[in-house]
Amino acid sequence: MNKPTTTTFVGWGRSNGSVSRHHVLHSDSELSALYTGEDSVIARGLGRAYGDAAQSGGGVVIDCTQFSEIIDLDLSLGRIRVQGGCSFEEMLRYVVVRGWFVPVTPGTSFVTVGGAIAADVHGKNHHRDGSIANYIEELVLVSPDGTHLLSRTSDPDLFWATCGGMGMTGVIVEATLQLVPIESAYVTVDTDRTNDLDSCMELLSSGDERYRYSVAWVDGRMKGRHLGRSVITSGDHAKVADLTVQQRHAPLAYDPKQLLRVPLTPPISMVNNLTLLGFNELWYRRSPEHREGETQTINTFFYPLDMLGGWNRLYGPRGFTQYQFVIPFGEEEVVRYALERLQQAGCPSSLVVLKRFGAADAAPMSFPIAGWTLALDIPLGSSSLAVALDDLDRHVANAGGRVYLAKDGRVRPELVRTMYPRLGEFVAQCQRVDPKGKIASDLSRRIGLRD
Ligand SMILES: Cc1cc2nc3c(=O)[nH]c(=O)nc-3n(C[C@H](O)[C@H](O)[C@H](O)COP(=O)(O)OP(=O)(O)OC[C@H]3O[C@@H](n4cnc5c(N)ncnc54)[C@H](O)[C@@H]3O)c2cc1C
Repeated sequence: MNKPTTTTFVGWGRSNGSVSRHHVLHSDSELSALYTGEDSVIARGLGRAYGDAAQSGGGVVIDCTQFSEIIDLDLSLGRIRVQGGCSFEEMLRYVVVRGWFVPVTPGTSFVTVGGAIAADVHGKNHHRDGSIANYIEELVLVSPDGTHLLSRTSDPDLFWATCGGMGMTGVIVEATLQLVPIESAYVTVDTDRTNDLDSCMELLSSGDERYRYSVAWVDGRMKGRHLGRSVITSGDHAKVADLTVQQRHAPLAYDPKQLLRVPLTPPISMVNNLTLLGFNELWYRRSPEHREGETQTINTFFYPLDMLGGWNRLYGPRGFTQYQFVIPFGEEEVVRYALERLQQAGCPSSLVVLKRFGAADAAPMSFPIAGWTLALDIPLGSSSLAVALDDLDRHVANAGGRVYLAKDGRVRPELVRTMYPRLGEFVAQCQRVDPKGKIASDLSRRIGLRD
C-alpha cells in the first residue's frame, strides 16, 4: 500500500479547503485497511463537486483517479464495465469511435464514473431520460462491512442509497453502464433567442417531446421586462445523413481537445460586473434569433467549458459558488424570485442555466425531481450573498424543492431534512453498511448527513 501524503483539498469552487491525508487508490484490497484505521475516509474522483463533498478535514481522502481502467465493452449490447475512477473523458475516447455514447452526461467530461453515480448526475436530457442511475446495470461497492454487488434488483435499497449518496455508503470500485447508440460524433442543434423568462419557459416546455437535449442559458443581469432573456439550444445526435460530405468520411471521429489552460490563479477575480456585462451581451447578440439544423461536435455541444482547462481559477483567490436548485412545476415564481433576489443583493451571476427535469428516480438522495432547475455561478466576496442564499433556500424548501448537494458548500442543516424528506431511509442504509460511521466528508459533517 502506498504511503499517504497530506494535501489541502478544495471543491471546484475553490473555497472551504481542508487538510487530509491523501491516499491514492491502486487496488480495492487497500480499502479494508483504510476502513479499520483510526481516521474517517471519503472517496474522491476528479474534484468537480463545487463544495465540500469530496474532502474530509483531518481524515483520509481516497483518490480514485488512478483506479480507472476500462475493463470490458460489449460492442453488440453497448455495455461498458469500468473501474470507479474511470473518467467520462476516457470513456468517450473509447466508445464514441465505436458508435456509442454515455446515456447521461454532466456539463463536463472531467468527472469519474464513481463521482457521477455518487451524485446521480443529470444532463440536458433529464426531461426525457432521467439520471445516470437509470443506466447502471451493476455496481461493485466496497463498504466498511464488506463488498456488495448491487443492481436495481439485487439489494435495491443499497443500490439506490449509493446513487446520489455522495460517497457515504462506500467506494464504488466498478460499474457497468448501458450506453446509447450513435451514428456520428455530431449533434444537430436548433437555437432560439427569447426576450424574457415566460417565453423561455414556454419554449423549453414545448420542446420536451421534440428534443432529446435542451438547455437555456439565461442572461442573469437582465431586469424588468427582459428578466430571464435567454438563448436556448436543443438537439439530438446527428445521423450520418445530416452530415456534410466531409464529415461523412469519418462520422465517428472524436477529437477531444483542451485548447487553453489557465496557468495561475490571478490575485483578483477576473469575473466582475464589467467582464460579465461584456460576456453576456456578446453571447446574447452573437446568437441567432432562430436557427435550425446546425451541426456541432460533441465537445462544443456538451462540454464547451472543458476547452479552457482550470477556468475555475479565473474567480481569483476567493473562488465562487454554484447555487443550483430544483422546484416542482407550478412553482415557477421561485425561478423569477431567485434571479431578482440575487440582483437586489448586488451579487452578479456569471453563468445562469435553466433546464427541465422529468420524473425523479428511486434514489432517496437523488437531486432531480420533476420541475425546473436553475444553476447560477456566483463569485464569492459580497457580504450580502450568504443572506440572499439563505433566503432563497427557504423559498426553495417551502416550494417543495431542494438544492443540489454536489454543488453545495453552505446550505443550513435544518433545511436538508425538508428538502430531502427521504433522508431517514438513506441514513438507515449508511448505518447498515457503516455502523461505526467511518465514512465522513466535510459535507456530511456540515449538514449532518448521518444524524
Ligand atoms: C463544469 C461543471 C459542470 C457540471 N455539470 C453538471 C451537470 O450538468 N449535471 C450534474 O448532475 N452535475 C454537474 N456537475 C457536477 C459533477 O457532475 C458532480 O459533482 C460529480 O459528482 C463530479 O464527479 P467527480 O468525479 O469530480 O467527483 P468528486 O467531485 O471528486 O466527488 C463528488 C462526490 O462523489 C463521491 N465519489 C467520488 N468518487 C467516488 C467513488 N468511486 N465511490 C463513491 N463515491 C465517490 C465523493 O465522495 C463526493 O461525495 C458539473 C460540475 C462542473 C465542474
